[in-house]
Amino acid sequence: MNLYSQPGHIDQIKQTNAGVVYRLIDLYGPISRIELSKRAQLAPASITKIVREMLDAHLVQETEFQDPGSRGRPAIGLILDTLAWHFLAIRIQPGQITLTLRDLSTRAIQEDRLPLLATPEKPLLQTLQDIVNDFFIRHQSKLERLTAIAITLPGLINAASGVVHRMPGYDVEEMPLGETLAQRTGLPVFVQHDISAWTLAEALFGASGGAQNVIQIVIDETVGAGVISGGQLLHKNGRTLVEIGHTQIDPYGQQCYCGNNGCLETVASTGSLLNLTAQRLPSQPESLLHDAPLTIASLCSAAQQGDRLARDVIAGVGHHIGRMLAMMVNIFNPQQILIGSPLNQASDVLFPAVSSTIRQQALPAYSREIQLTPTAFNDPGTFGGAALIKDALYSGSLLVKLLQG
Ligand SMILES: [Zn+2]
Repeated sequence: MNLYSQPGHIDQIKQTNAGVVYRLIDLYGPISRIELSKRAQLAPASITKIVREMLDAHLVQETEFQDPGSRGRPAIGLILDTLAWHFLAIRIQPGQITLTLRDLSTRAIQEDRLPLLATPEKPLLQTLQDIVNDFFIRHQSKLERLTAIAITLPGLINAASGVVHRMPGYDVEEMPLGETLAQRTGLPVFVQHDISAWTLAEALFGASGGAQNVIQIVIDETVGAGVISGGQLLHKNGRTLVEIGHTQIDPYGQQCYCGNNGCLETVASTGSLLNLTAQRLPSQPESLLHDAPLTIASLCSAAQQGDRLARDVIAGVGHHIGRMLAMMVNIFNPQQILIGSPLNQASDVLFPAVSSTIRQQALPAYSREIQLTPTAFNDPGTFGGAALIKDALYSGSLLVKLLQG
């Protein structure tokens, strides 16, 4: 997180190996030390040493199990010791904040959802500190040893420094969120964009498990994408994000909050989709959309029943998104494209519009095999934050902090 405290070469190897071993125990436990040594491609002596440290720190424990390869007496296997370690995953959305206390298996212990109000009297950073502090006081009796805090939010952020440059719906400029909370709580704090963290959550717990190259597109109140490239989240610890929502689609289009005109977000977000539908509705007296208040749910339901206007506007969004994805496909050659959107309720209209546009506009060799899949989470909640913690354990960076106590 801190750019000036990069570990030395030996420490880096130790950190990476510890992360690999922890991940293998998580995935395959109960697992014997011998099997661990084979899978990690590390010498048995190294495995013994790493496991000893983890046992002493209560991060793993031994258990008897029946090794499928051998009959006879049960073997000693290793599993994670997750119950006595907690972390706090926080999700900030316009108008609300969700705080979930989880143990290291990601199981939720306590979840609170609160309004997050912008007031001129109190800076947002102070409000956030107070909310976190109050949460810990309120649930003190449930707390086990705390490991870290992970925060996901929309806006322009620097994940490396934990600084939030801008955030929609709040008057925020250069808010040092990560550093302030770290100082206040003494815990490591991870800050990441909501969509990037959701992309990681799908890779670790959801629809893209094991895939090395994935593009995830989110079409909601905002439009954005996350990319897994070579098994890693693109820009994971970087200063920047994948900002496809602010790519110009229509030079004569309406102004966007970023200052440009006709951004993808102004033509493909759910809000702009509802506006467009409302504009066209008077010229479509037959439309089923006259029968109910206009919402994304009623729009999708009308599309499912064959309503022409509803199908046209959803397909229109699909074509815009497909055009953007065609360029991304040519860059990343993904195995899988995930779509996270309330419009997935009308996926039989949306998905063909997206995929036909990709096939027309991307390199055939890249686009031929592509599968569009809905995200596993309709709403990731604080699983984005949980994914950041798991990723930091697997990479070893958070793990070594826990080992050092
Ligand atoms: Zn924009």
